[in-house]
Formats: sequence, structure tokens, C-alpha cells
Amino acid sequence: MSLSFTITGQTRIVGIFGDPITHTRSPAMQNAAFRARGLPYIYVPLLVRSPDLRHAVQAIRAYNLVGVNVTVPHKERIVRYLDALSAEADLCGAVNTVINCEGTLLGDNTDGRGFLVSLQERGFSPHRREVVIVGAGGSTRAVLVSLIRAGTERITIANRTLTKAQSLVRAYRTLGKTQLEAVSLDKLQDPLLLKNSALVINCTSVGLHGEPFLPLAFDATPRNCLFYDLLYRPELTSFLRQARNARRAGVDGRRMLLHQGALAFSLWTRQPAPLEVMTRALNRALRTPS
Ligand code: NDP
Repeated sequence: MSLSFTITGQTRIVGIFGDPITHTRSPAMQNAAFRARGLPYIYVPLLVRSPDLRHAVQAIRAYNLVGVNVTVPHKERIVRYLDALSAEADLCGAVNTVINCEGTLLGDNTDGRGFLVSLQERGFSPHRREVVIVGAGGSTRAVLVSLIRAGTERITIANRTLTKAQSLVRAYRTLGKTQLEAVSLDKLQDPLLLKNSALVINCTSVGLHGEPFLPLAFDATPRNCLFYDLLYRPELTSFLRQARNARRAGVDGRRMLLHQGALAFSLWTRQPAPLEVMTRALNRALRTPS
């Protein structure tokens, strides 16, 4: 399929706000999807510095953009500039997708739903299971909210800065029936913590540059425990290599990236996303150095 496209007077713009932004693979994925559906939309990276965020949001209306994706470092601060939030964005306190509804800007967060869809396609249900999350940053919030809403029995959050894990436990303790606990990273070596875990998730950036993952007793988990790394680069992270060495199944962050993008596509276009086209475009883009 050719990705060439003629810009005309009918062309509408979708953007992605971030700083830095050159690493993003979303333009390849979304533009392939727009072409596949025959939509006159174009998706462009927009470098937005933090002091300019408010003006950038006003420009969504001024230029009548279809909407934008939002990435680091703006996901949380953009909330204050929008007109309304979805229940999920409100719960996460973060937005990764803005939809321009005739000048009213609605913020949504598709990260958690994208994560859940990627679990479903593996045939994994978190309902009444025990989960360990490593990390307590922005991605943990989205994953945590989605797991609580999916009826997870128990979630342990291990983080380098323990107080951040503890404040997540306080913030989400009453959201569902899930038991939440915050622990320090050294607990990841305690077999007792891991012996009933059905899912262990890396929500940290550890491994992004090829560095070894944190000490964790991979062997102490049940044989059918699933290891999920939110990182989608490098192709085999240290976390997933160690899971494989312990003969446990692993999933990388590519499917979550795909599905959060597919959900955003549907919010902007009200059409089902062409998943195969997006998968191929994303895989091609991830093989290309940024
Ligand atoms: P944040 O910056 O919000 O959080 C980073 C987390 O990593 C914190 O918990 C931090 O601990 C921890 N951390 C960082 N360095 C270390 C270290 N050396 N040792 C121990 N812990 C460390 O990032 P996000 O949560 O937004 O994203 C995390 C990763 O997930 C990113 O690399 C991102 O690319 C990926 N991601 C993937 C997505 C996908 O679609 N696949 C979606 C969203 C994110 P502390 O609190 O102590 O600083």
C-alpha cells in the first residue's frame, strides 16, 4: 500500500504533543490507518515545550484540528486546559488523547484500555488474579486503574521511591475491591511476594537503554505467570530475557502501543481501526532508528 497522499483544501490535521517528539512512532501507525480508511487526515508530530502547552491547546481549536495525542511530559498538566474528561482520564489524572468536538476539547486516556486489550488477545484475564507492578509513574496509574476496574484480586506496587507507590495505594484504595499494597524494590527478591502472581508488569523505564533489569526472583513465580514489559524497545528487554530464561511467557509493550493508538483512531474517526495495517506500519517504524 502506498503511503503517498495529496494535501488538499479538505485535509484535516491530527497531531501529537510532546517534548522530545522525534522518537515517536505514532505518525507511521496513524497515517497508515488514515490512508487505509481513505480519510483525508494527516498525523503530525508537534514539539510543544512545557511553557507553551496552554497555547498549543488553544491552537487545537484555532486550527480546527481533529484532535491530538499527548505524550511525555504533558499528559498530566494538559488536564487543566481541557473542557471535559472521560471517566478514565479523570481517574488517571492524565490524558493521552484529545478529541475536538466542534470546539469543545474532550480528554481521554486510552493507555489502560490498550493495555487490557493486549492482555485479552493473549487470552489473559486479570479478574480475581494477583498482580505485581514494578514502577509508580504515569504508566502505572493507567495500568492500575484498568486492572482495578477489571476486578483484579490483589495488586502489589514496588517502586524505588516507596512514597510514590504508597500515594497510589491511598489514591486508588476505594476505587474497587482490589487489595493494594506498596513495597520497596528489595521485596521483588522475596519468593513469598511472587509465589501466587499471575502477572508481573514492568512499568519502569529500566531496560530502555539495554541495561539489566532490577533484581527479581523470576523463578519464584508460578510456571504460568505472564511477564509484561511496557517497554517496546529494545526488541528483547532484560526483563523479558530473564523471564524467558526462567521459562515464563513474556509480552512486550508493542501491542499496548498499538491498541492505545487504535482506540484513539476510533475516537477521532468513529470508525474501527485497521489493526493489521497499523501493526505492519508500527513494526516497520520500530525497526527504523529514530
Ligand atoms: P515515569 O517517568 O512516569 O515513571 C518512571 C518509573 O520508573 C518510576 O516508577 C521510576 O521510579 C522508575 N525508575 C526509573 N529509573 C529507575 C531505576 N534506575 N531504578 C528503579 N526504578 C526506576 O514513566 P512512565 O510511567 O510514563 O513510563 C515508563 C515506561 O513505560 C517508559 O519507558 C515508557 O516508554 C513506557 N510506556 C509504554 C507504553 C506503551 O504503550 N507500551 C505506554 C506508556 C509508557 P521513581 O518513582 O523512584 O523515580
